[in-house]
Amino acid sequence: MSDRLPLLGETFAVELANSDHRTGHEERDFLAASDDIAAWFARAPAADGIVVPAPLSPEVAAAVRGIRDATRLFLTETVDGHRASTRADAAALLHREARRAAGHLALDIDGARTWRLHHEGDVDDVFRAAVACRCILFLGGDDADRVQRCARPACPMLFVRRHRARRFCEDTCAHSVRQARYYRRHTSAT
Ligand SMILES: [Zn+2]
Repeated sequence: MSDRLPLLGETFAVELANSDHRTGHEERDFLAASDDIAAWFARAPAADGIVVPAPLSPEVAAAVRGIRDATRLFLTETVDGHRASTRADAAALLHREARRAAGHLALDIDGARTWRLHHEGDVDDVFRAAVACRCILFLGGDDADRVQRCARPACPMLFVRRHRARRFCEDTCAHSVRQARYYRRHTSAT
């Protein structure tokens, strides 16, 4: 199981929020330890370009989990359609982390022309600011309204719904729901 990370190839903020499985049946935090965080950032495609400090101090690890929790709180608000009582604290945390390093936008002209958010300063601060800014950019953008929770009960995974038909995070969830429905129908019919 340790080899399997909850990565869907989603945008960074959603992918980061999906590292928290402390609700549901699994009760696992995939960023619980510094090593977990290093492994997650090495494997998550959306974390490309973010330099993880090595070694990763417990303080920085806790900061990343804090950014993740704040991000998940706002995404859960969207999904559940209610405002969390701690939303002001969550926003303050994101802003505090984003301010840790000076940032600017740069034009990336290698390949397809695009913009890039660049931070300068201490490696720990740059890391924290880069993670927070990516989350803020997503939470304040148009796609944040399209975030959905997987339709399998107890699955904590979120995803950006780009197609109307998508209801599950992965085929395995769709399959297990179909299978459960089949058995229910089968047993109640006899
Ligand atoms: Zn799922």
